[in-house]
Amino acid sequence: MMPPTITLPEASMPEEARTITSELAIIGTGIAGFAAAVFALERKLSIAMAGSTGALAYTTGYLDLLGRMPGAAHAVDDPWLALAELRRSEPEHPLSLVATADIERAFTLFTDFLGQEGLAYTPAGRSNLMAMTPVGTVKPTLSVPATMAAGPALMAAGSPCVIVDFHGLKGFSGRQAVANLRQRWPELSTARLAFPGSRGGELYPEIAARSLQVPEVRQQMAEMLRQAAGPASAVGLPALLGMHRPDLVLQDLQRLSGLTLFEIPTMPPAVPGIRLRELFARALPQRGVTIIPQQKVQRLHLDENGACLTLGDNYGTISIHAEAVILATGRFLSGGLEARRDTIREPLLDLPVAQPSGRSQWYEERYTDPRGHAIHRTGIVVDRTFRPLGGDGHPFHPRLFAAGIILAHQDWIRSRSGAGIAIASACRAVDEAARLLGR
Ligand SMILES: Cc1cc2nc3c(=O)[nH]c(=O)nc-3n(C[C@H](O)[C@H](O)[C@H](O)COP(=O)(O)OP(=O)(O)OC[C@H]3O[C@@H](n4cnc5c(N)ncnc54)[C@H](O)[C@@H]3O)c2cc1C
Repeated sequence: MMPPTITLPEASMPEEARTITSELAIIGTGIAGFAAAVFALERKLSIAMAGSTGALAYTTGYLDLLGRMPGAAHAVDDPWLALAELRRSEPEHPLSLVATADIERAFTLFTDFLGQEGLAYTPAGRSNLMAMTPVGTVKPTLSVPATMAAGPALMAAGSPCVIVDFHGLKGFSGRQAVANLRQRWPELSTARLAFPGSRGGELYPEIAARSLQVPEVRQQMAEMLRQAAGPASAVGLPALLGMHRPDLVLQDLQRLSGLTLFEIPTMPPAVPGIRLRELFARALPQRGVTIIPQQKVQRLHLDENGACLTLGDNYGTISIHAEAVILATGRFLSGGLEARRDTIREPLLDLPVAQPSGRSQWYEERYTDPRGHAIHRTGIVVDRTFRPLGGDGHPFHPRLFAAGIILAHQDWIRSRSGAGIAIASACRAVDEAARLLGR
């Protein structure tokens, strides 16, 4: 793999232009952008990427593939079977454009990468898991962090378990979780603890998570959990078991306490998403990827030789020259789409956006309408090679690809398929970019 070349000015003074040259540029540092980087590394492509925080910090950490079919009242049990149905009923859905074998390959590569970096995930199985949400409801998902894996299994078995929360922690209540789960899990109780070292006041999950990386804090926590568990041998906690390498924090706490432990996601922004972001920000540069963090691409110019991306930071302008580009800029929350007064735009290239004919069509009358809202299916349209289509119905540019929830014809929130769409489409976009680059 040729590493990206970075040309620095002679003296790194503010306001001087820097140029980065790579084979592939990725715009966006959400799950789609990071997954694209993982797949491109596998292809030995040199990679430069840019993006800011976006929706990643909000995720539960679960990797959903397909949890609910459009219009269906019940959760999907076997997402692979449901995909076959989706291909018949919604052939334009991004997941319908990806072969099952490619989706399986993409999940395996992505979760293997995370596992190597100390954030193991359960392997994608034949059935969805029913995993806990921050408020104690359950949702279908395909793969969960290993730190959360014991929860669905204990719930399915109905084993006695204590859910603990902490004084001063907002965004997670053991009482609420137990109240909502008790019907399906009668052997559940709750306890509130003082976080080790806390002197009262608000407890911030991110700080609590980082403090649990200190062995002495884990010792104290293990003792408190043992007492809170009483006769139960399992304890669920809000997701704050370490920021880096949480697998080791979990292992150590289980060893010290003698309990089976599992995390439950807290209200966003929360530790599981920050973990993912920090993991990629640390691990990808170690493998040769150039990341321009916390910056958005301001201009993207494409011609027959490649693409030029322009962005800037406190030290001045940065140009990225690449032979192919993947656009993975998300929807409204991350800035990949913009809602104007009467229309929805894609701001970087002004790509055509599939959308309702007018603002009055964006939403149904009732917020809870089971059909969902048309605005949640807007996005850019791609062909089977994941190239965005221009106004004439042909690929906008042969070197441009797109991935993630910026894609049209899917409502990832209702279908519980956020990470699945991101990972599957990123895999296909990289396959096609690699083909273009002769790999
Ligand atoms: C509250 C919440 C809960 C969620 N829970 C789950 C869950 O339980 N399971 C699940 O599977 N998914 C979940 N998701 C979805 C998941 O976090 C991702 O949003 C989804 O996978 C789509 O990822 P994406 O990379 O396509 O888009 P995003 O995550 O939106 O990322 C887009 C990226 O593009 C960047 N960007 C935008 N414009 C530019 C530009 N001009 N230049 C450079 N970068 C740019 C943004 O900064 C951001 O980094 C949740 C999301 C939210 C908001």
